[in-house]
Amino acid sequence: MKRSWTTFLLIGGLALLLVTLGVLQYRGLTQISEADAEKAHQRVQDETERFAADFNREIQNAYFNFQTDAEVWKNKNWRPFNERYLYWRDKTTYPDLISDFYFFEANGDGQPLRYDREAQSFVPAEPSAALDDVVNRSRGEKTFKPFLIDLYTLVLPVHDAGPELEKIVIRRSEPGRPVVGMPPKFGFLAIKLNEAAIKGQILPDLTTKYFGDGGFQAAVIDKAGQPVFQTLKGVDRDATAPLFTLSPGNFIEFKNKELLDSIGGERRSNVIVDSHVESRTFTGVSREEGKQKTFKIELRNGDEPRTPMLARTIPDGDSPWTLAVQHSSGSLDGYVASTLRRNLAIGFGILFLLGAAVAAIIISSMRARALAQRQLDFVSSVSHEFRTPLAVIYSAGENLADGVTKEQSQISSYGNLIKGEGKKLSSMVEQILEFAGARSGKQKYNFQPVAIGDVIDDAVSQCRQLIDERGVEVEHDIAADLPAILADKRALSQAMQNLIANSIKYSNGTPWLRVTAANGDGKVRITVEDRGIGIAKSDVRQIFEPFYRAKDVVDAQIHGNGLGLALVKQIAEAHGGRVYAESEAGVGSKFTVELPQR
Ligand code: ADP
Repeated sequence: MKRSWTTFLLIGGLALLLVTLGVLQYRGLTQISEADAEKAHQRVQDETERFAADFNREIQNAYFNFQTDAEVWKNKNWRPFNERYLYWRDKTTYPDLISDFYFFEANGDGQPLRYDREAQSFVPAEPSAALDDVVNRSRGEKTFKPFLIDLYTLVLPVHDAGPELEKIVIRRSEPGRPVVGMPPKFGFLAIKLNEAAIKGQILPDLTTKYFGDGGFQAAVIDKAGQPVFQTLKGVDRDATAPLFTLSPGNFIEFKNKELLDSIGGERRSNVIVDSHVESRTFTGVSREEGKQKTFKIELRNGDEPRTPMLARTIPDGDSPWTLAVQHSSGSLDGYVASTLRRNLAIGFGILFLLGAAVAAIIISSMRARALAQRQLDFVSSVSHEFRTPLAVIYSAGENLADGVTKEQSQISSYGNLIKGEGKKLSSMVEQILEFAGARSGKQKYNFQPVAIGDVIDDAVSQCRQLIDERGVEVEHDIAADLPAILADKRALSQAMQNLIANSIKYSNGTPWLRVTAANGDGKVRITVEDRGIGIAKSDVRQIFEPFYRAKDVVDAQIHGNGLGLALVKQIAEAHGGRVYAESEAGVGSKFTVELPQR
């Protein structure tokens, strides 16, 4: 009783430990996964922004670089433009990015000019519908936009300003609220971009640079949500960043002293680009929704206070193109969730294995303990079994030796008694040896065609003495057409004897048994049936285990060693068959040996 309590406690403790471990593991893994997801989101957003910044820098370098003074066009002095063009060509990674430059005046009907790279000068442009479109849209105050994205054209207004003002021209997002009035427009420089260079070089290069490992996919969509470069699955986007934006960060980077100097011919140290107030949110794509991004450029002369020159506010989502990035599995969150599921499955799998291993150890140790107990019981019951015949032999021998009896008939009955008890002893020893031999695999069976009827007759005649002693009525029902089967006759007869002996031993005062044999489904079935004490349901499964004896037969002190049925099982299995019991406590039992016809 005490022992089973400790086992219960142990099992309960282990179960509790496993559950605790499971909960801790679940919490730990979920936390790690959340932290990982946050990091991964941050990383992909950063990469996306860097990608966009690189792209925008290329575009903006083209845009800002070609700011020119109206004097250039008025005097047809192409030197400053040529300088800028060569400078740009020298610095850019993608010299194919610009396919053409056009200039046209803000008013009047002067013919548009086209930049001739060979001649290093602007020449009259050939008229075309596309060029007309650019001209009309740029001249219209309402339709003017720095990026005519559908035409892959950047349009720079050329302001007619004095040399004292830097020309930084950025579209005003809020008409009517400029910080400083802009000088009048003299004309426009249209920069025609090369669509093939953007889609075939810049975007693929940047995709490889930032998402080359294949973990993420990048695509570009226009304002209407139509794909411009690559397409993504579904609607999930893990990060986005605007393309074709004018950012002060890039402007500052691009601003180069030599070119600024070259505009007016003198060094302009009074240009201050103040970007640190708002530019932090400006250079990046604001993740705080609804916040507008602003930057301003100020001028300062000597010690005078700074004068704001230009302020620019870009509402979110105003960019012509958007870079959208998505995890290659469809969405980063989905990927993180599936990784979490996999990790949880592995973790719980290991815990389950651990639990199963512990359970297996507990079960096998309980079994080992039960077996050890049964072996002890076996030793004591075998000793008991031996004690009675030995006592009979001992007293019969003593009587003979003491000459208690001299009558020939009595001497012979003593002799028969000694012989009978000796036979019991030797059959008990035989059974134990047979069991041990079969267990160790040393038992050799001699398979031969055997008639089942003969085997049953042999078994019954071997048990004859017992049957007669107890006055048992034996019914036979052996099918006439039984085929001969391949069997070891002696072993099979031994198995039948064990079953018959049990039926008599556990007959509970009803001296009746029936032996039947029949065939069907390619099998021969031999049954031994009694109307004895029967077997409790909980015992039926175990009675074929070596040394197992039902508790009530032990309590009722019915002698036995628990080996008989184990031996029957071994013999049946050695013949490729099986044995099973059907029984009801208090009603009787039926044992069936099922053998294949071979
Ligand atoms: P033993 O008879 O020596 O105890 P066995 O292996 O022959 O060993 O039988 C194992 C147990 O099965 C018995 O102890 C008994 O509880 C049960 N048993 C076997 N045969 C019968 C039967 N015919 N009727 C009731 N119980 C049986």
